[in-house]
Amino acid sequence: MAAPATVIHTVGSKVWVPDPAESWIKAAVQKIEEGKDGAGVLIVALEENGELRRVPASDAPLQNVETRGGVEDMTRLSYLHEPGVLWNIKSRYMFDDIYTYTGSILIAVNPFAPLPHIYGPHMMDQYRGVDLGDLSPHVYAIADAAYRQMRKEMKGQSILVSGESGAGKTETSKLIMKYLAYMGGYMDAAGRRGSSSGRSVEEQVLESNPLLEAFGNAKTVRNNNSSRFGKYVEINFNEKGVISGAAIRTYLLERSRVVAVNNPERSYHIFYQLCDGASAEERARWFLKPAQEFNYLNQSTCFDIPGDSNAEEYQRTVTAMGKVGIPAEQRESVFATVASVLHLGNISFVEGKEADSSKVAPGAAQEHLQAAAALLGVDPAGLEHALTTRSRVMREGVIVSPLNVRSAVENRDSLAKIIYAKMFDWLVAAVNAAIGEDKNCAASVGVLDIYGFESFEYNDLEQFCINLANEKLQQHFNQHVFKQEQAEYEREEIDWSYIQFVDNQDVLDLIEGRLGVLDLLDEQCRFPTATHKDLAEKLYCTPSVKDSQRFAKPKLSQTAFTIQHYAGPVTYQTENFLDKNKDFVVAEHQQLLEASSRQFVQELFASEPVPEGAENTPSKAAPRAAFKFNSVGSQFKKQLGELMAQLHTMEPHYVRCVKPNGLNKPGLFENSNALHQLRCGGVLEAVRISCAGFPNKRPFPDFVDHFWSLAPELYHMPDLDDRQIAEGILKQSGLEGYQLGTSKVFLRAGQMALLDKQRTDK
Ligand code: ATP
Ligand code: MG
Repeated sequence: MAAPATVIHTVGSKVWVPDPAESWIKAAVQKIEEGKDGAGVLIVALEENGELRRVPASDAPLQNVETRGGVEDMTRLSYLHEPGVLWNIKSRYMFDDIYTYTGSILIAVNPFAPLPHIYGPHMMDQYRGVDLGDLSPHVYAIADAAYRQMRKEMKGQSILVSGESGAGKTETSKLIMKYLAYMGGYMDAAGRRGSSSGRSVEEQVLESNPLLEAFGNAKTVRNNNSSRFGKYVEINFNEKGVISGAAIRTYLLERSRVVAVNNPERSYHIFYQLCDGASAEERARWFLKPAQEFNYLNQSTCFDIPGDSNAEEYQRTVTAMGKVGIPAEQRESVFATVASVLHLGNISFVEGKEADSSKVAPGAAQEHLQAAAALLGVDPAGLEHALTTRSRVMREGVIVSPLNVRSAVENRDSLAKIIYAKMFDWLVAAVNAAIGEDKNCAASVGVLDIYGFESFEYNDLEQFCINLANEKLQQHFNQHVFKQEQAEYEREEIDWSYIQFVDNQDVLDLIEGRLGVLDLLDEQCRFPTATHKDLAEKLYCTPSVKDSQRFAKPKLSQTAFTIQHYAGPVTYQTENFLDKNKDFVVAEHQQLLEASSRQFVQELFASEPVPEGAENTPSKAAPRAAFKFNSVGSQFKKQLGELMAQLHTMEPHYVRCVKPNGLNKPGLFENSNALHQLRCGGVLEAVRISCAGFPNKRPFPDFVDHFWSLAPELYHMPDLDDRQIAEGILKQSGLEGYQLGTSKVFLRAGQMALLDKQRTDK
């Protein structure tokens, strides 16, 4: 974002200049020259060391007047530009003011340290019923605004929390849910809070958090408690504003983590909790060993999280399950299933008698086979058969072929992943069943805690799906910010000839449109023999993809592709796309587990469609009909579509979480890192949209207070009102880019700078 061309510098002007290390640094203008093309060129001296630099005037936006500790709302900055926004957030952060508004968007910078004084019932009471902006910016203020607007208009509200991993989305979402639970908690006739009769819906809603975190969160390099799934919680309220139900939807659990962890990360918390926390009896029942002895866990050397006790967390999980309403019997089934996954991981294979065949290795692997079979309620021989063979329907009938050792390992891993994923879905369903959605509620508030934009060195199908979600949310966000701006202009009855906004529909078409990347991916997944090279070829030659402005083939790769996302380009490696996209249970696994003697396991695998080519009824008549193709990509697209449809019926509120540094340390703020996040979170886009219209809006009295000295004679005229004085000041100043609304002065970008300069020159 360059400085507006109209900004006038003088010698001595304090400016920001671009800097490769710090993004922007402070400087003062020493000399103004004219460049070759007539544009202004500044010679500036850096504030920190006096070093002289030459910069185009258009690259050197003016600094805002220094306010100790920054301003609470970015739109109050005289100069709304990238360095101004960044500096403001940083100055506030240094005073532990982690929250800042940009209009109605809340920016939350992760403090990486407990700030107990700003949370809790006492603070909730303070924010209750207070208009946004009347108190210091706070996540409670956003929650309160949503709650009150819901009650007032009886209209659904959504609070969309975004940010990169470790930015604080989940913590923020929990603070919001706690606030909503507090406001919408049961109150008796005397106005006393809390339920008299045991479990309350709000308690169940809150306890669903530790429960799902145990099964869906893991320690990663970015965050010790990283959510590996997206979550949307809709809290229902009755006409009195009391919570009457809730529904939780989850998105795209990371399955690969169940069978593969990189050092120094961990798999899902529950595995370690179980190994460390189960009682002696439970350990015997589930054949548990120390976490270090399970292959799915010991690929990493990390088993503990500093400051946390796995055993205590286990108790916490059990308690949460109970509070949510999952009875002991079902808890037992869930834990037995978790243990079965660990045992599966320890089943190793050796070559069988026939060429290219395999069997379970002798020794310890046999014990784990027995344990896994017992916990899954199946016959060990049946399990071994399902792990080491694959049957296919051919013209000649069903052909059972052996799997070699490598394929058996892959097959075992895919079984482990599907069991875990199904169990996770079961848990979410159980939580929903226990809490109960109130379909007749008066209105709801939805809280979305979903992974932010991701761009790594290696980007896989997960990143592709995550970034699709972010594109969709970005579109929703832009449309909303636009609408809000327009609405204000209309309310104030000013003319606005509107700027075009950069719509990202073209990226969405490329990804999820007809014959877009997802369609082509599904198409390739239907061919049993297709490889990622075929997929890449298909992408490179299909017009709907290759002709998109947003698509490119990287020069140095024959199988990768690059998408120009709203937040920047991302190159995706296709190697695992086909495998990761396939989402059906192999026929052997299906048959084995739906016949389990354990009701829980049976339930997990009930009525799964069987994929074509693996079906055991060699009927040529209807194989296609029997095969319901399921893919991770298309399912996610469908889920997202439903989510967006839901969000479109609600009034959105936005929280953008920012991770101030990569070390997860308090008090450290890295400029370029934060800027990148502000860009990805659409904050800079919102600022841009605002700048393209009338970024500075000042109520008439404020405006007059500030600029009266430009026309003191008007100020002292007794029968002029503030609007007339403001108009007089603007006319006298010779400014062109302004409009007078019904209650405010609207200034185009740069105009405030001109006025300020006139004022100081006076
Ligand atoms: P992911 O995408 O990996 O799930 P996230 O955005 O959900 O990341 P959180 O788990 O919410 O990130 O936050 C990471 C850590 O930052 C928390 O475990 C906590 O230590 C700290 N943190 C976040 N928000 C706050 C806060 N408001 N006050 C104190 N600490 C916080
Ligand atoms: Mg999280």
